[in-house]
Amino acid sequence: MANTREQLAEHLKFFGELGVEGFRKDAVWASRTDADRAEGRGPREERASDSASQLVAIRDDIGDCTRCKLCNLGRKQIVFGVGNPTADLMFVGEAPGRDEDIQGIPFVGRAGQKLTQIIEAIVLKRDDVYIANVIKCRPPDNRNPEPDEVESCEPFLFRQVDTIKPKVIVALGTFAAKSLLKTTDSISRLRGRVYDYRGAKLVPTFHPAFLLRNPSCRREVWEDMKKVRALLNGEDVA
Ligand code: URA
Repeated sequence: MANTREQLAEHLKFFGELGVEGFRKDAVWASRTDADRAEGRGPREERASDSASQLVAIRDDIGDCTRCKLCNLGRKQIVFGVGNPTADLMFVGEAPGRDEDIQGIPFVGRAGQKLTQIIEAIVLKRDDVYIANVIKCRPPDNRNPEPDEVESCEPFLFRQVDTIKPKVIVALGTFAAKSLLKTTDSISRLRGRVYDYRGAKLVPTFHPAFLLRNPSCRREVWEDMKKVRALLNGEDVA
């Protein structure tokens, strides 16, 4: 088990890779819960168990889905979503890749490791957030999902969002941002702003897989994640 100094060095390395240069030491930055977290939501444990059972009901409704052609194009299993059922922060990606299709969990491959670093860079853990995709089945050869596939699958994502009621949603990459915001604009045009979406604030950013191929974009991702942290802290962000 690494000692604290080694763990700290490891964290600084992650942050360095993400282009993070400075740290705020104040408690607000480090705190994971906001004072107003439970506002209007009833007792926390009760809401967590309601939300968890609603998510199970949504998964049951999906069943062994045959609503679109992806069921016959080699998917191993449906990749529903993972994480805290009452998360303040939700990440939405495009569709499962090879590793996710095998394990049944979103963002577990290389892009997933990069996403975990991004989450840790804002002083959260994967377990604190909820992670899902617009499309629940792997498209063959990781091709882009097609409009009919999105149409069949996105109602389940909407139900996940409406159940979890996150304060902030991060749309990962062009496909997720375009699908959620119903626009044809590219991620480069969409990112840098905060959008209202189903009662949450939506922050589009580059997909972690894109970041792996284009490490120079980590500065922009870090700017977006600082906005996310501020929104979670209840600050006004344009
Ligand atoms: N890319 C995505 O968009 N989602 C995953 O779950 C994995 C890779």
